[in-house]
Amino acid sequence: MLQDVALNCFNITQSYLSIDAGNVLATSGHVIRQTQEAIQTSRQYLLQDIFTRWDPFNGDISFSYNGGKDCQVLLIIYLGCLWEFFLSSIEGSQYGPQFHKFPLQQLPTVYIDQEDTFDTAQEFLQASVDRYYLSLYESAKDKKIDMPSAFESFLTVHPETEAIVIGVRHADPFGESLRPIQKTDPSWPQFYRLQPLLHWNLSQIWSFLLYSGEEMCGLYEMGFTSLGSVNNTVRNPYLRVPEPIASFTKADTKHSDFQWEIENNFRGDSKTHFNKINETDLTKIRNHDASEFHPGWYLTKDEWERAGRLAKKV
Ligand code: ATP
Repeated sequence: MLQDVALNCFNITQSYLSIDAGNVLATSGHVIRQTQEAIQTSRQYLLQDIFTRWDPFNGDISFSYNGGKDCQVLLIIYLGCLWEFFLSSIEGSQYGPQFHKFPLQQLPTVYIDQEDTFDTAQEFLQASVDRYYLSLYESAKDKKIDMPSAFESFLTVHPETEAIVIGVRHADPFGESLRPIQKTDPSWPQFYRLQPLLHWNLSQIWSFLLYSGEEMCGLYEMGFTSLGSVNNTVRNPYLRVPEPIASFTKADTKHSDFQWEIENNFRGDSKTHFNKINETDLTKIRNHDASEFHPGWYLTKDEWERAGRLAKKV
């Protein structure tokens, strides 16, 4: 049930926040401390600025989700906050949470299906629907339809939506000047963009996601650092083994910065978890480049996150 997942996500978040960063190795400790601050800021946006203005339990808010690492991080934090919001709504009751009905059975979610995605990413998205109890609206797959029109169609089907949660970060293309809560541009269908993850950097994303022990999209394990179209996305060249491209020193790739998070993960099995790479994807990926690659989380430089995106063919 969504209620159980929300509680689990709350526990993941609280567990991360309670890590004694001072006792963790120097580099990891530094990242963990920063990530704890980033989580607190996101929680504040959600609990104090967003849920007080739009009711997350009555359809005001939808969550934009494509299975990528950023929206997965935000989803875990968002679901944890839903649990907190639920607890605050029954505060003062003489009965415990188990005697109150959680007000939502599925989380309203929107996916814009425009690009030719990897089958692995598509399969991960479907697995997320089951795992996180998403009620997923998938736009019609039509490359000729632009983003605003796709959202227009979504709002026609779900006119109750006033705001959409987006896992965009300042480091993303065109992300620099975005604000946590803002209206869409006048040329777009009108809704509020809720962006509580803007201030996160790449290291913080990996640190929290690896610590969660949640299953992630398998493409990341193969050396992808961002999920784009199957036609223009390859594994990140900075992660190629054993000879990464110039300017990336070997020392940087010797070990991951997140060994502590993996060994001490919330699931308690000291492992990483990914959905299985689809065979067709595997052939395509190996045919393009037979080299081995480090997993995506070995790359922590925000500027290189999209180095695996090729220029689109015109
Ligand atoms: P990654 O960068 O690893 O692919 P991501 O997909 O979460 O992770 P972005 O590609 O930067 O991050 O996209 C930013 C946000 O925009 C996502 O977190 C998600 O909320 C939203 N988004 C992106 N693509 C889609 C899509 N096709 N449908 C719905 N929402 C999307």
